[in-house]
Amino acid sequence: MDKQPAVQKGKIPSLDRQPVRTLKGVGPRVAEKLTHIGIETVQDLLFHLPFRYQDRTRIVAMGSLRIGEQVVVEGTTELTEVAFGKRRMLLCHISDGTGSLLLRFFNFSNAQKVVLARGARLRCYGEIRQGKKYLEMVHPEYQRLEKETDVPVDDVLTPIYPTTDGVHQLRMRDLTGQALQRLQTCDPSLIELLPTAILEKNGLINIVEAILTLHNPPPDISCEMLQQGRHPAQQRLAFEELLAHYLSLRQLRKSMQVHHAHPLHHDRGQWKKFTRALPFDLTGAQQRVIGEIMRDLSQPHPMMRLVQGDVGSGKTLIAAAAALAAIGCGYQAALMAPTEILSGQHLFNFRSWLEPLGIEVVWLSGKLKAQARREAMEKIKTGGARMIIGTHALFQNDVVFGNLALVVIDEQHRFGVHQRLTLREKGGLDGKVPHQLIMTATPIPRTLAMTAYADLDVSVIDELPPGRIPVNTVVVPDSRRDEVLLRVLTACRQGSQAYWVCTLIEESESLQCQTATDTAELLQEALPDLCVGLVHGRLKPVEKEKVMSAFKAGKIDLLVATTVIEVGVDVPDANLMIIENAERLGLSQLHQLRGRVGRGGKESNCVLFYQGRLSKLAKSRLAVMRETNDGFIVAQRDLEMRGPGEVLGTRQTGMVQMRIADILRDQALMPAIHKAAENILHTSPETGPLLIHRWLGNKTRYGNV
Ligand code: ADP
Ligand code: MG
Repeated sequence: MDKQPAVQKGKIPSLDRQPVRTLKGVGPRVAEKLTHIGIETVQDLLFHLPFRYQDRTRIVAMGSLRIGEQVVVEGTTELTEVAFGKRRMLLCHISDGTGSLLLRFFNFSNAQKVVLARGARLRCYGEIRQGKKYLEMVHPEYQRLEKETDVPVDDVLTPIYPTTDGVHQLRMRDLTGQALQRLQTCDPSLIELLPTAILEKNGLINIVEAILTLHNPPPDISCEMLQQGRHPAQQRLAFEELLAHYLSLRQLRKSMQVHHAHPLHHDRGQWKKFTRALPFDLTGAQQRVIGEIMRDLSQPHPMMRLVQGDVGSGKTLIAAAAALAAIGCGYQAALMAPTEILSGQHLFNFRSWLEPLGIEVVWLSGKLKAQARREAMEKIKTGGARMIIGTHALFQNDVVFGNLALVVIDEQHRFGVHQRLTLREKGGLDGKVPHQLIMTATPIPRTLAMTAYADLDVSVIDELPPGRIPVNTVVVPDSRRDEVLLRVLTACRQGSQAYWVCTLIEESESLQCQTATDTAELLQEALPDLCVGLVHGRLKPVEKEKVMSAFKAGKIDLLVATTVIEVGVDVPDANLMIIENAERLGLSQLHQLRGRVGRGGKESNCVLFYQGRLSKLAKSRLAVMRETNDGFIVAQRDLEMRGPGEVLGTRQTGMVQMRIADILRDQALMPAIHKAAENILHTSPETGPLLIHRWLGNKTRYGNV
């Protein structure tokens, strides 16, 4: 048995108070390295779970090998030879009577050649791959067996841990083993944080058993369940992890509610004037969502509301409605967009809506000339500017608002959560915090929204303005370019306008812009009758503006663009879009792009080009685009195929990587988790912080907020 650290005489500290340094073999150097993967205490080690398992518990017959599987095989060497391909390598054919396998070694010694010589009995572990002629293992682990003796195989699955530089698998296993010993001697009530009632109600196994099982899976465990993360031990921990995340978001939300905000409401006359001047009626969904927002704004605490609405559902108007409340009450409102183009577009809309009401709209672009910027800043500071529109530039420290009462963030998945939070400091000197309205066109399923955005209230615009005709989408190989060119020509001759979107082939932005530039030249050559325009991220803001307004005015027929047009660009007459390399884009992104057409009353078309041959997965992904125009369905399918991290922009939204839970796979747990959270907040509020600390540690999602 391990000696317990003598921290306090006679009293063993709980595992989250026992530093890893108290384990055998952990000096300051290793302890420091472990902090890189978030391990500081013995408890952290216990919750540092294997991310997969190797099955070395059975020997698989070579006749039943499956590609991609990692397995143990046993057989006799039939032939071992040195081959000279591009590189020198050792090839070793082995068979077990049911089938055969090729072992391939690129680096090998003479001694190895001898060990692997014909007639040797070998046990190998590795991944099965499809070689040119045979199934293969490349650089397998192997062991030579003496004839006739039975060497036992492992009787449990081998856990594989996430590691860090300088702390390898074996060390992790050893440390975890020590931690597990401590676990078995500690007071279970210290490690089991969930109240018994919650465990029983949800059929959850106790935590000690779950931890032991996952670090040391018993021989009879279902490998399949384990690999899929559906084993009761995993589900037990996933439940707790999701609960911890949910509680931390609830806490964040509460910490916002202690702040004060200006209660806002519409000035009746002004609101009437505004709506009367619109060329259309608000949709039912817009009215409902505006109602939800107005209720929040009337409160003396900051609103934290997310509005989800498919591309083209009319979110800009919602932003204007909210802004009018702030302005009508004598305060400022700010609208932040993710790109210069989009902020320019908003500027255009807001000016046309608000200036007739005598409201000054100011644009703070990152690239304003010094003098213009100084003037804008002055107006923002004195409060002369009532409506301020910009990009990230709005966040810079030197931007001081006179009396900011509302911030609207458009297309939030492009913004970091931190940026969103720094806004809190942009309120006035009176200690009031601005209301926040966040708008996103990435519609996500409800249960997921409740997990990922539990700190926010959510409104959904579930209705498009009337008269929208679904975009007709086709998937076409790049080889049929000529046909598509003809189609562009015909459409433009008939008065249509088209987008030609060059997507990211190379990672670098400059190459992407270069591709767009080249494409524009080629297209102009091929279609001399048309006016071809070009817009990309490297253009100066003024130039971008010029191109966009020329396109909007109908002076450009075909606009070649990089994905900078992805969000928010609104040119209702454009009704044809060609997207290159569509197979490389996420579905949500394609949907965003496609949302640029189908805005006017005309029938619209979207051509998705792909290069080369499509994989089965790519085919079915693009088929989704053909089959539906509904952003919610697209998002759902995208989630299933790519996972929430990619779709929600996890890295950008700042959601901490989950250790064992998978918000998609474990969606079904959410309703129970919400109930459990209520229960904990009411009956044992001291548990929440412990859970959050256990699962999120110091990297609480939003830092210190
Ligand atoms: P989103 O930002 O949600 O993608 P926008 O706010 O850009 O959508 O609106 C898309 C288009 O629909 C714009 O041209 C806008 O003027 C128009 N629009 C907005 N609301 C309505 C409505 N209620 N009826 C008709 N058209 C509308
Ligand atoms: Mg928009």
